[in-house]
Amino acid sequence: MTPNEERRPAGNRTPNKNHKDETSVPDAADPVTRCSCCAHPLTAAASVARGFGPVCAARQSAAQLRARRESVSARLDALAARVGLLGADALAVVASGLDDVLDELGGAR
Ligand SMILES: [Zn+2]
Repeated sequence: MTPNEERRPAGNRTPNKNHKDETSVPDAADPVTRCSCCAHPLTAAASVARGFGPVCAARQSAAQLRARRESVSARLDALAARVGLLGADALAVVASGLDDVLDELGGAR
């Protein structure tokens, strides 16, 4: 038995043993839920609900955080390039938003 094989208690449905080849097309009759990222079989209910195993979920959230940082940074750069063109009302909105951002960053001013 390899570590990737799911352990099933006796009496459960028998796994499909008709695999003739190793095609990458998912078998619609496969009863095992697999990680959307690496196709590792998922057994924990939380992992099945999430669609990812714990390792890939952590990797994904780290990648999402990195992507959000890059997005916010790019938007701040765009704002910095245009702030000189804004009127008084828009500047008040921007100043208020920047106060919120600085508060979120721990009041570092
Ligand atoms: Zn995975």
